Amino acid sequence: MSKLIIAKFGGTSVADFDAMTRCADIVLADENIRVVVVSASSGVTNLLVDITKTTEVQQRYDAYAGIEQITLNVLNRLQQPHSVAAQIELLLGELKALIENGGAVYSSAHKDLIQSFGERLSSVLFTQVLLERGSAALCFDVRRIMRTDSRFGKAEPQIQQLAELAAIHLQPLLVEQRIVTQGFIGADEFEQTTTLGRGGSDYSAALLAEALQAATVQIWTDVVGIFTTDPRLTSDARCIREISFDEAAEMATFGAKVLHPATLLPAMRQNIAVFVGSSREPQAGGTWIAKDVKERPPYRAIALRKAQTLITVKSPAMLHAPGFLTRVFDTLSRHQISVDLVTTSEISVALTLDQGGMTSAFSSNVEPALDELRTFCEVSVEEGLSLVAVIGNHLHSSKGVSGELFSTLERINMRLICHGASKHNLCFLVQDSDGPAVVKQLHQCLFAA
Ligand code: ADP
Ligand code: ASP
Ligand code: MG
Repeated sequence: MSKLIIAKFGGTSVADFDAMTRCADIVLADENIRVVVVSASSGVTNLLVDITKTTEVQQRYDAYAGIEQITLNVLNRLQQPHSVAAQIELLLGELKALIENGGAVYSSAHKDLIQSFGERLSSVLFTQVLLERGSAALCFDVRRIMRTDSRFGKAEPQIQQLAELAAIHLQPLLVEQRIVTQGFIGADEFEQTTTLGRGGSDYSAALLAEALQAATVQIWTDVVGIFTTDPRLTSDARCIREISFDEAAEMATFGAKVLHPATLLPAMRQNIAVFVGSSREPQAGGTWIAKDVKERPPYRAIALRKAQTLITVKSPAMLHAPGFLTRVFDTLSRHQISVDLVTTSEISVALTLDQGGMTSAFSSNVEPALDELRTFCEVSVEEGLSLVAVIGNHLHSSKGVSGELFSTLERINMRLICHGASKHNLCFLVQDSDGPAVVKQLHQCLFAA
């Protein structure tokens, strides 16, 4: 049986030289960690996004200067900076050329190419950190194997091709050394750089684990595991030591930023255990996510996702007429709009869109879709809403779930409620301004010791 471990280190874990040193300690402590996936150093991807968003050349240079500073701060702390200085200079030069010759607006292909520099820089630096600590290590360009489609900004990995390419190009290298590679990025069939969506490095690590048939994926981040809710929302949040794939996947889908929403799909397909821990406090343990868990409590966690849009579509003419829902969803699907929550009545449908999680390419599809809906029904749009999801087990068949919820939140305007379709979640919408307080209140009610 495979003992291979894929370890992924997030942005804060590789934020600077000292943080990278702590990650190196974790890697060196376990011979089975043969593949290391790194994110861009904290702040770098945001600066790269700034470059792609602004049309002001000076603002692009300011963002570039920030990235250069973060990079050089690590480089200058290395024992042998000259070993990687040329590689780093090449990458920074390439990025600068993209700024110089960028024109007013970048194409979506260029945006992804620009956003790839964060992981490409941090992986070169982290490889050198490992080498200086005495580990044989090689920086591997993941774009050689992470084949995706060409949906820039949210590219879809091609699982079969990834597995074949990894077997040829990556697997043989693991015998001799550790491999350091990039999260978040890939390449399409034309060798154009793509990205998997913000926070995508977790997903990359799980995809590589699947392709290499690893035993475990470790997600090293800035919290000591998965909590009952985002620990930034309430100090009452508690670390969950063991959680099932289904529950953790629901948490990630509904906004628990600690995992990219798609991370657990490859792990579930291959039954690969996932560990989440803090690179600052590896001794503190963490959360194990697995297929079978000892306990399945009714309430496991609460997640919050901001920036939701509620669309209500109404057509009195459709009373008792068949085909209304088909027409609504067909319109949305042709505009590639993915719907989140749905509730219906005889003549109206209310549905939510996760605008916060959409790339700009997809959000630009929303208006044309709404215009088409307006040709056959009344459409109203409400923004500034937050989705609160209570995650657990058998929520659809447990007594008292809604009673507990409604009595806790009796003073809150719940805009839409979805309950019953899934045994793992109960979701509702509130105003963005109420979101954090609702989570805190609900957490106190459901998780008080
Ligand atoms: P990384 O850069 O390592 O990928 P992220 O910032 O993407 O880290 O994810 C870690 C953050 O996720 C934490 O700092 C925490 O605020 C947030 N978070 C949201 N929900 C949860 C949760 N249920 N448990 C733990 N962390 C959570
Ligand atoms: N660097 C990318 C981001 O900030 C991917 C990641 O960190 O997972 O979104
Ligand atoms: Mg993340």
